[in-house]
Amino acid sequence: MDNGPPSPAPSNSTSVHAANVMRYELDTEVVYTDSNDQFRSSSVPIYQTATFKQDSLSQMGDYDYTRSGNPTRSHLERHMAKIMGASRALAVSSGMTALDVLTRLVRPGDEIVAGNDLYGGSNRLLKYLATNQSVIVHHIDTTDIAMIRSHINPRTRMVLLESPTNPLIKICDIQSVSAAVHELSDRALVVVDNTMMSPINMRPLLLGADVSYESATKFLCGHHDIMAGIIAVNDVKLGSDLYNVINANGCGLAPFDCWLLLRGVKTLSVRFEKQQSNAHLIATYLHGLGLKVRYPSIGPAAEIHSRIARGPGAVLSFETGDVAVSERIVEATNIWGISVSFGCVNSLISLPCKMSHASIDPKTRAERQFPEDLIRLCVGIENPNDLIADLNQALAKSGLISKQ
Ligand SMILES: *Cc1c(COP(=O)(O)O)cnc(C)c1O
Repeated sequence: MDNGPPSPAPSNSTSVHAANVMRYELDTEVVYTDSNDQFRSSSVPIYQTATFKQDSLSQMGDYDYTRSGNPTRSHLERHMAKIMGASRALAVSSGMTALDVLTRLVRPGDEIVAGNDLYGGSNRLLKYLATNQSVIVHHIDTTDIAMIRSHINPRTRMVLLESPTNPLIKICDIQSVSAAVHELSDRALVVVDNTMMSPINMRPLLLGADVSYESATKFLCGHHDIMAGIIAVNDVKLGSDLYNVINANGCGLAPFDCWLLLRGVKTLSVRFEKQQSNAHLIATYLHGLGLKVRYPSIGPAAEIHSRIARGPGAVLSFETGDVAVSERIVEATNIWGISVSFGCVNSLISLPCKMSHASIDPKTRAERQFPEDLIRLCVGIENPNDLIADLNQALAKSGLISKQ
């Protein structure tokens, strides 16, 4: 496929914006990419170089310095833009870096409207801005459109959404919220952290958001062997403003990590489909035991979710009614690795209150109705019967269910 000009264009050139059109179904497009290499290599070459020589004193080539642009990164960015339904994508060193770059658009006195159930690292970054940069941050229930509406004013610069949230699995109607915010303000950007869904399940730009970003550390890469973030936009000016931040602070993704991400993303569709079908079976099993399960296809918000996303994803959580029981379950599993994060081919189990969400103080957790006994499951690609049998023996060992 003609996925860009024959010789790779620099990431700050406007010529990269035109070629990101999807011609095939998403599962075809994730694997469909031409290396554009002079030797027609099947894999995109890694340009492991900091500098590029100029043709002459006055003639610059397409690239000069890897902080500003690198052919491997340009290739990844074009590929990601195509998959995310964007005119431009930017690859940076982590998911948190992606949000950090976006918040450089916010000035002192500006306001950010954000969820009250955000990823912990995002909370930490917003708290820093509120404490040190005079940015006003409103943490509200973003499942409530009327609540969002009442917080939009001329100082609002960003509305930051996650859906579903992790691990409470709250659903925000991104399409309706985007329309409402744009109706009330021409300055507020609707920014969606799409890490939980990946472009396979949801493409926020097609739902009306201005920016979609993801921690590529999770599903996009899929193997937990790199950290990366991708920002995707359609507005050309916004894209070049964000590029300027990345060029200025040097957080563009390193060539080797770009290559690993290009390699990982090829299997995104098959990994995600398998992880999701496994997660569905596990949610059904736990639900069948009478446990309170949180999964986007279960509960009152399932209808909203099914309007904006293709499937429920691969992260679910459940309650046991007793923290000590939950601790015993987590420790009794064999296949499920005790680990933070998600999106990996391996299945992971965690107790968020003791792990990923331990930095939120217990009082705030209680205010946000965060169950201390909540167990999170991030489902991988193993055989579902093995995963369920392992959970079953752990639940029995913990005393939650009787041994069969
Ligand atoms: C992991 C994660 C991030 C942060 O990404 P890193 O790559 O770890 O910096 C942001 N948002 C969500 C929803 C995440 O799960």
